[in-house]
Amino acid sequence: MALRLYRGDLLLIVALLVPLMVAAPRLGWPPGEAAALLGWVGRVSGIVGLAMLLVTAALSIRLPGFDRWFGGLDRLWQLHRLLGFSAFILIMLHVLALGLARVPAGLDVAVLTLFPPPSQLALWSGWLAWLAMVIFLAPTFRFFGRLDYQRWKGLHMLSAAALLLALGHALPLAGETWPWWLLGALGAGAMVWRKLLSPSLARHPYRVASVAPLARGVVEIALRPEARGLGYRPGQFVYFTPLDESLTAGRGEEHPYTIASAPHDPLLRIGIKDLGDASHALQTVSVGSRVMLEGPYGDFFAAHHPDRDALWLGGGIGITPFVSAARGMADVDEGRGVQLFYLANGPDRAYYLDELTRCAGENERFTVTTHFYRELGPLTESFLRHHCPDYADREIYLCGPPGMIGHLRDLLDAQGVPAARIHCEVFDFL
Ligand SMILES: Cc1cc2nc3c(=O)[nH]c(=O)nc-3n(C[C@H](O)[C@H](O)[C@H](O)COP(=O)(O)OP(=O)(O)OC[C@H]3O[C@@H](n4cnc5c(N)ncnc54)[C@H](O)[C@@H]3O)c2cc1C
Repeated sequence: MALRLYRGDLLLIVALLVPLMVAAPRLGWPPGEAAALLGWVGRVSGIVGLAMLLVTAALSIRLPGFDRWFGGLDRLWQLHRLLGFSAFILIMLHVLALGLARVPAGLDVAVLTLFPPPSQLALWSGWLAWLAMVIFLAPTFRFFGRLDYQRWKGLHMLSAAALLLALGHALPLAGETWPWWLLGALGAGAMVWRKLLSPSLARHPYRVASVAPLARGVVEIALRPEARGLGYRPGQFVYFTPLDESLTAGRGEEHPYTIASAPHDPLLRIGIKDLGDASHALQTVSVGSRVMLEGPYGDFFAAHHPDRDALWLGGGIGITPFVSAARGMADVDEGRGVQLFYLANGPDRAYYLDELTRCAGENERFTVTTHFYRELGPLTESFLRHHCPDYADREIYLCGPPGMIGHLRDLLDAQGVPAARIHCEVFDFL
């Protein structure tokens, strides 16, 4: 994750610090004596851990536009995951430190501190919250194999239980309760919006106008809005929920897809590659069937340095944000030069190439260079320099499979290109 701070990050920091600052007078300074210090660490880690858990829930809200406060939805999800894992670690530390702090008083006292009689509901509520977190987080460890995205989303309901049980633990034990009510309301509100309200309030109905094959296992679906269409910029994506009864998989499931059309296009276009059961079924989605779209999200082409020439490196289906930008280029003359390197396995896998070449023919500031892996192997620095001598001085945008992005990042890093000038879109949130 880039180290750049966004305005949403400042909100996060404040939200995380408020409960600690409110509790500070009761906590006092860290004591010098070991057992008391452990007790203090246990309380502080519990407060910060719970604040993180509630903020993690609040970050799951998914509102179009809100993600840009955090540098786009992929960065927001990274923050969400980072805070969620950190909350879990701090909550473990909370339990451990409080237990160890009581060991000098006797092992039985320590055990009783952690496992009191059942009448102490607040403490058992804490344990149940912890258990819900363990069950919920376990599948994310590689040890349990590849994560099934839809099952993982179903498991997210457990995080709602963890949140409520954690509040049931903290509210009776806290001195000042208002920070917990506030953060709890934000977290619970985000979940209610996401699970109950947004499916009916935030989705826009479209109809499939056409399905055009681009290559084997890749189609472009054009969608016509039933009412007013979504406004978007190149580089943004939508959550796409097909409702076609005849689909063999993925009906009613939402999947993120980058918009490949230009903003002026009356149809919204999406290039879909067959990468799994839902995207496979979409290759033959019925023309005329209904699709719900939510968004737009993302900020790939945010105006980082509009004056600097741009270098676009797109691979495979990761070409779609560049297709949208190239199709819209005639509408916005930014005055800067753009060079696209299209990285494909071979000419048969270079979807949209004819159209991109045509765009380049119509716009002297736009150049397209192809690089075919089957002929040339991985892209090299000398290839890049030969076709774009000033590449290292450009604002660089990468989109494609994780392996390609990793290779290009290493290549650019080795040439001393500052990380802040490299912008990536990875088609995977996990
Ligand atoms: C920001 C973004 C933009 C994308 N744009 C495009 C695009 O323009 N064209 C295109 O063909 N693909 C795009 N994808 C990838 C597309 O979302 C997946 O290929 C699709 O969701 C796979 O679903 P599946 O059931 O066919 O495959 P599965 O076998 O279920 O999954 C294949 C891969 O997709 C991931 N995935 C599955 N479901 C989701 C989901 N609901 N949300 C996030 N990731 C998921 C899985 O983690 C796995 O890595 C994009 C992904 C992201 C995150």
